[in-house]
Amino acid sequence: MKRKKRVVVALGGNAITPAGEEGNITQQFLNTRKSMVSVINLLKRGYDVVITHGNGPQVGNALIRVEESRHLVPELPLGIIVGDLEGGMGYMIEQCLQNVMHDMGINRQVATILTQVLVDPDDPSIKNPTKFVGPFFHEEDVPELINHRGWIMKEDKGRGFRRVVPSPAPIGIVPKDIISHLVDSGIIVIAAGGGGIPVYIDHRGWLEGVDAVIDKDLASAVLARDVNADRLLILTGVEKAALNYNTPEQIDLDTMTVKQAQRYLTEGHFPAGSMGPKIQAAINFISDGGSEVIITSTEKITDALDGKAGTKILPD
Ligand code: ADP
Ligand code: MG
Repeated sequence: MKRKKRVVVALGGNAITPAGEEGNITQQFLNTRKSMVSVINLLKRGYDVVITHGNGPQVGNALIRVEESRHLVPELPLGIIVGDLEGGMGYMIEQCLQNVMHDMGINRQVATILTQVLVDPDDPSIKNPTKFVGPFFHEEDVPELINHRGWIMKEDKGRGFRRVVPSPAPIGIVPKDIISHLVDSGIIVIAAGGGGIPVYIDHRGWLEGVDAVIDKDLASAVLARDVNADRLLILTGVEKAALNYNTPEQIDLDTMTVKQAQRYLTEGHFPAGSMGPKIQAAINFISDGGSEVIITSTEKITDALDGKAGTKILPD
């Protein structure tokens, strides 16, 4: 039997917590329900679907909760927070999709899979973390935070001092066979939420957690590779990736080959904290044998699947 087309769809921050919104749970549910239209679209076109999502604003909020309640309850390490959020956000996305499918008469099952993601314990980002997380602090409080909490703190350009954590590159998806098995059975899977929980295999062969966060775009590419998806769909706040973004010389991109993508990335068109990891994810997925990556907004997904919107990254 010919396998159905398989797609990994990565929901960006915009799909759940758009910039400028407080990001309370009511808003998160509302936005998530709206963005499920993109998933329905894929189902209608006969795709097997694996969903993944970011967790940036949610991790930031969770760290503030840890900060503010330190004198009342034991602190939660970052690895546990990421795991908690995979559950909480997975529940939200799962239920929104279930309800939308109910209303549309689509009879499919959804499962959220708590996903440990393998990283290299010697990843350079573990010794030199650069990923900002959580609240801002005044410079005078920094030595105390470094000495007593063991944090690494850096200045976030003109905005104050923040904790930085490692963001190691994802290498593999621990429950990849479970995910593939569920997708083979027609189940829609939500996996590697927020990039997944970073773990490595120690000298005993045990899985050991790392207090770090994995970039969700890079994790999506590894997930897509590990579940043999043909396509990776990255949904974000813009319709297309662009050269000279946000300048009078902006050029929106319809398609790029991996080679062109690599060149534009090296030339600095795609910043590290936003478009950069999406382009890198596209390069990685296609270099690993994927056939196509589309970057677009939730609103433009139908047009993008028809080749009329979005930025497509293709093999050379
Ligand atoms: P997500 O939450 O989906 O990961 P990010 O904010 O991390 O979203 O990254 C997407 C954002 O990157 C876009 O909304 C846009 O503002 C910004 N961006 C930066 N450089 C570019 C570029 N070259 N082309 C398009 N968008 C860009
Ligand atoms: Mg992002």
